[in-house]
Amino acid sequence: MSAPLRLMAVHAHPDDESSKGAATMARYVREGVGVLVCTLTGGERGSVLNAKMDRPEIVANIAAVRKAEMDRAREILGVEQRFLGFVDSGLPETEEEPLPEGCFALKKLEDAAAPLVAAVREFRPHVIITYDDDGGYPHPDHIMTNRVSVEAFEAAGDPDRYPDAGEPWQPLKLYYHMSFTKERFEALHEAMTTRGLGSPYADWISRWEDRPAKWPVTTRVECGDYFQIRDEALLAHATQVDPEGNWFVVPRELQQEIWPTEDYHLARSLVDTELPESDLFTGIHADNVSPACH
Ligand SMILES: [Zn+2]
Repeated sequence: MSAPLRLMAVHAHPDDESSKGAATMARYVREGVGVLVCTLTGGERGSVLNAKMDRPEIVANIAAVRKAEMDRAREILGVEQRFLGFVDSGLPETEEEPLPEGCFALKKLEDAAAPLVAAVREFRPHVIITYDDDGGYPHPDHIMTNRVSVEAFEAAGDPDRYPDAGEPWQPLKLYYHMSFTKERFEALHEAMTTRGLGSPYADWISRWEDRPAKWPVTTRVECGDYFQIRDEALLAHATQVDPEGNWFVVPRELQQEIWPTEDYHLARSLVDTELPESDLFTGIHADNVSPACH
């Protein structure tokens, strides 16, 4: 029997699931929700970002190393996870730099979305979380992840589309991650500064443009009790995360006090809900979780 409520998180690379929405997933899975992470690429072109891991034998086996890191993070979070088999596009150093042949971001949308449509039809999530259309940050794989997620949300329920990808299933809500907001970093920065702890964010915040949010936060999921699990999962991606880096500068207790939520923008909903929300499943009830209603 699959879990009565199901959540799918779509990510570009292994480690993205642990830096975006990890505490939310850790909470839901422990409350009995089925959670599946779909990782579109293997992260083969990621650089080693932790000096202690920057060793020739690791760099030479980066794909296998990242797979093993993902296994460990999956165990810590308690979620299911699968790779959808695309190849990392890498982060070009200039806008002119061409992307490598065959990479995920260069795929035709239909080819890039087909495995995700199949995963949606098989796992049958009620809620999908992904990045906004700027990718959260401008990595070509993140932008493509948004595109395939929107495509899968729109097409998975339509029997005429992707006819070879399984029985139709219509997810009910689509969310974008919204935890990297100026508002949140300002709050953490101020809390650090007033406590005399020194904040790593001053420079960053001062360069952040003040403009109305393109995707306003609609939904704040309380998950401070799961920040430790989030941090452990993130550290499991040892090649990607420097334990001495900015991720871990703000004490966990302070984060739990100042900003104990992970935040989202409700991008699509086929159910009635009232904003703001505190639960990704608001509006989803027994009478609309059965496949028969579509
Ligand atoms: Zn990524």
